[in-house]
Amino acid sequence: MRGVVLHAPGDVRVEQRQDPAIIEPTDAIIRLAASCVCGSDLWPYRGIEKMDGPAPMGHEYVGVVEEVGSQVSTVRPGQFVVGSFVASDNTCEICRSGYQSGCVHRIVMGTIGTQSELARVPLADGTLVATPATPEPDLVPSLLAASDVLGTGWFGAVAAQAGPGKTVVVVGDGAVGLCAVLAARQLGAERVVAMSRHEPRRRLAVEFGATDIVTERGDAGVAGSRSSPAGSAPTASSRPSAPRSP
Ligand SMILES: [Zn+2]
Repeated sequence: MRGVVLHAPGDVRVEQRQDPAIIEPTDAIIRLAASCVCGSDLWPYRGIEKMDGPAPMGHEYVGVVEEVGSQVSTVRPGQFVVGSFVASDNTCEICRSGYQSGCVHRIVMGTIGTQSELARVPLADGTLVATPATPEPDLVPSLLAASDVLGTGWFGAVAAQAGPGKTVVVVGDGAVGLCAVLAARQLGAERVVAMSRHEPRRRLAVEFGATDIVTERGDAGVAGSRSSPAGSAPTASSRPSAPRSP
């Protein structure tokens, strides 16, 4: 199969890689329908994160199940699935507490690389979620967002205790921040302040439910987020870059 491999900062190659095979009975093999570049892929690309030799790229992915191991019970070949950026069993104590990305058996999907035609997904029952039907092509990018940035943004909004009557400030307007805006609104927050200075992202933030936009940073940003028509102070803040995705 073809797959993307980062050889050194700035040196990305599409090359032939070995087709994946079932190794553990809890594995699934999927054929990628879509995969994308995460902001964290750019750290080694830019040389900010040190590399230890060539490494496959990609951990945000959706696809169709081709094959499952003997112990996989929740997905089957032919199903369209959304996968998490961290493979987790979803049964250990940490998973049951809602911290699947910290699973005791976790495998970071970036070490497998999903910017490829096929990928082995470990712990398939805990990692893959099948959609009710094969989605129309125009829905695939939105489902792809659920593979990493939506879950991470949602986690931030939950950690900030976003909910009815709350004011939430989201620091940062990248993909995770915008998904945190969406999540805070969906969770019922009354006021959602997006700290954003990029016009296209501001528009998306408003579309996703931001009630206020603050363009300043530092002390001016704090003052801006505290002032509102109601004059209420924030009751929670969500900083998406803190619980970062791998
Ligand atoms: Zn677990």
